[in-house]
Amino acid sequence: PHHSGITGILMSAAGLPVCLTRPPKLVLHPPPVSKSEIQSIPGISHTCRKTTKKQAKKGKTPEEVLKKYLQKVRHPPDEDCTICMERLSAPSGYKGPQPANLVGKLVKCSHVFHLHCLVAMYNNGNKDGSLQCPTCKTIYGVKTGTQPPGKMEYHIIPHALPGHSDCKTIRIIYNIPPGVQGPEHPNPGKSFTARGFPRHCYLPDSEKGRKVLKLLLVAWDRRLIFAIGTSSTTGESDTVIWNEIHHKTEFGSNLTGHGYPDINYLDNVLAELAAQGITEESLIQEKD
Ligand SMILES: [Zn+2]
Ligand SMILES: [Zn+2]
Repeated sequence: PHHSGITGILMSAAGLPVCLTRPPKLVLHPPPVSKSEIQSIPGISHTCRKTTKKQAKKGKTPEEVLKKYLQKVRHPPDEDCTICMERLSAPSGYKGPQPANLVGKLVKCSHVFHLHCLVAMYNNGNKDGSLQCPTCKTIYGVKTGTQPPGKMEYHIIPHALPGHSDCKTIRIIYNIPPGVQGPEHPNPGKSFTARGFPRHCYLPDSEKGRKVLKLLLVAWDRRLIFAIGTSSTTGESDTVIWNEIHHKTEFGSNLTGHGYPDINYLDNVLAELAAQGITEESLIQEKD
C-alpha cells in the first residue's frame, strides 16, 4: 500500500528503501539544548543586544542633507525626472522654497533629478540623513530602518545544520514585544501586534556564518531586520514583519524554503545585506 503508481513499482523493483517514498518531516527546532551547552561566539562580544536609544538627529534640513550627495547641474539633460515625470529642463512637479527648476546629480551614480523632487522624496522617508537613488538604489549616507524596540540574542548550540555537518550552529533569538507605533511608522499612535516571537533563526558556525552574524548585528543596530507593515502570509496589518533580509527559521529540514540545506543562503543573505548598505566596510565604520 505504501507503493502506489509507477514510482512505487519502480522503487520496489530497484529495491530502494521504503523511506524514500515517505513525505519528508518538518524539523523546526534543534534537539533540546541545556544552558551549560550554550557558548558565546569567539570574536563577537556579548550574547545579547537590546535596542539602544535612537541616535540623536543632527537637526539638519533636507536641503543640507541632500547637498552632501549632490552636484549642481547647470544644463539639465533633455530627459524626464523619474520622480515627477516632468522634463528636467522644466520646473519640478513639487513645490518648495527654492526655485523649482534647480536640478542636481547624485555624486556616486550620476542620476539626475529636480532638487524639489529629491526633497519631497526625503521628507516622505524616515529622514535619517541617508538617501537612496530611486533609479538604481545606490545608498548615500547610512541607511536606517524603523524596526521597533526589542532584543537580539546570539550564541552557539552544539548541533549541526543539514549541509553543514562540519560545524556547530549559531542560534539567533529575536524578541520584539507589541507596542504603539512611533512617528516613523505607517500609523503613528496606533498599536501594533508582534506574532511568533521569540523567533529562532540559524546560521552555520563557520567563518562565513560568523561574518553574516556580524553584519546582522549592524543591521539590528540600524533597525533594518524588522519593520511594521502588512504580513504577506496572513494579511494582518500593523504587525511586525521581516524586512528584506531573509532568515532561516527551520533548523533541521527545508520544507518551508526557510531551512537547510541551502548552499546559496549565505551568499544570498550577504547580497541582501549589501542592498541595505551593509558590507564588511560597515564593520570598520561601526567601530569609529
Ligand atoms: Zn522632478
Ligand atoms: Zn542612481
